[in-house]
Amino acid sequence: MLKHNFSAGPCILPQDVFKKAAAAVLNFNDLSILEISHRSKDFVAVMEKAQSLALDHLGLTDKGYKALFLGGGASMQFLMTAYNLLETKAAYLNTGTWSDKAIKEARLFGEVVEVASSKDSNFNYIPKGYNVPSDSDYFHITSNNTIFGTQIKDVSDVNVPLVCDMSSDIFSRQLDFSKFDLIYAGAQKNMGPAGATLIVIKEDILGKVSRTIPSMLNYQTHIGKDSMFNTPPVFPVYVSMLTLEWLKDNGGIPAIEKINDAKASLIYNEIDRNPLFKGFAAVEDRSHMNATFTLEQESLKDIFNTMWADAGINGLNGHRSVGGYRASMYNALTIESVQTLVNVMQELERKA
Ligand SMILES: *Cc1c(COP(=O)(O)O)cnc(C)c1O
Repeated sequence: MLKHNFSAGPCILPQDVFKKAAAAVLNFNDLSILEISHRSKDFVAVMEKAQSLALDHLGLTDKGYKALFLGGGASMQFLMTAYNLLETKAAYLNTGTWSDKAIKEARLFGEVVEVASSKDSNFNYIPKGYNVPSDSDYFHITSNNTIFGTQIKDVSDVNVPLVCDMSSDIFSRQLDFSKFDLIYAGAQKNMGPAGATLIVIKEDILGKVSRTIPSMLNYQTHIGKDSMFNTPPVFPVYVSMLTLEWLKDNGGIPAIEKINDAKASLIYNEIDRNPLFKGFAAVEDRSHMNATFTLEQESLKDIFNTMWADAGINGLNGHRSVGGYRASMYNALTIESVQTLVNVMQELERKA
């Protein structure tokens, strides 16, 4: 029996997508998807479909945005965003490990103003009421903090370009995506296998820095060549396209958001109700993708770990910087899987 996969990433994808992807490895228009040329008509159509579906889901078609699929992961975007956009000064909101890493890279290119940080309490909340200097080249946020289980609920309006690492909650909830000038996301959290990174970029924010940008790190290079400047990650792009089609066939972001909200309510209600567990993140900032929690009594750890493993649950251990548990509930995870976990938590309460 297949496991209930709560892994933080790479993570669960729809079974339907796995089946289609497996079939295409064996036969994709009489070749394997793994052996076709990225310049072939068939693959160019895949790339175009993936790009147009991404923009379509985000409501950004015909609004001056381009979608790119590049290699290098979200971590490469920590560097590329600053390389392409930071002339003198940029503002960053520090909400955890990933923002921290983005800040470190940006400092290589100019002044970085950390407008606020939740480091003082191990990033268990989202700072609010900060001020973004109006002379910043851009403001960078991380919409969902995969490790700590916090999520920005209201994206404030700022009068500088807004850049967002949306790796772990893209396509999971409705937002006014036109507020953003650049969105990036590693595929492996909610869209596809590791190896591709989606970048959605408003073209008019480019071309404003005076430095010379190496070709491979220049967004304009990749826009000019429609993500085909060099060999793109063919298979991850194909699987991402399949996931975006699956999302469309299932009602798009509005429909998946309802399911994601129901899954989040189910797990958080149990965390709050069950005296054996305690939530890690501040209640108002709780992520609907990654629920972080701990056991009140360390002595129950071994029995709980055995129980969830026996129930066929995979990937529940928290990140080492938080400890405890993390239930990652990306789009493809069903509410039945969350119910399985809740049942185990209730059974532990009966046994303890
Ligand atoms: C996983 C993750 C990253 C790192 O992604 P890579 O593709 O491994 O570089 C960056 N940001 C967030 C929010 C993540 O969840």
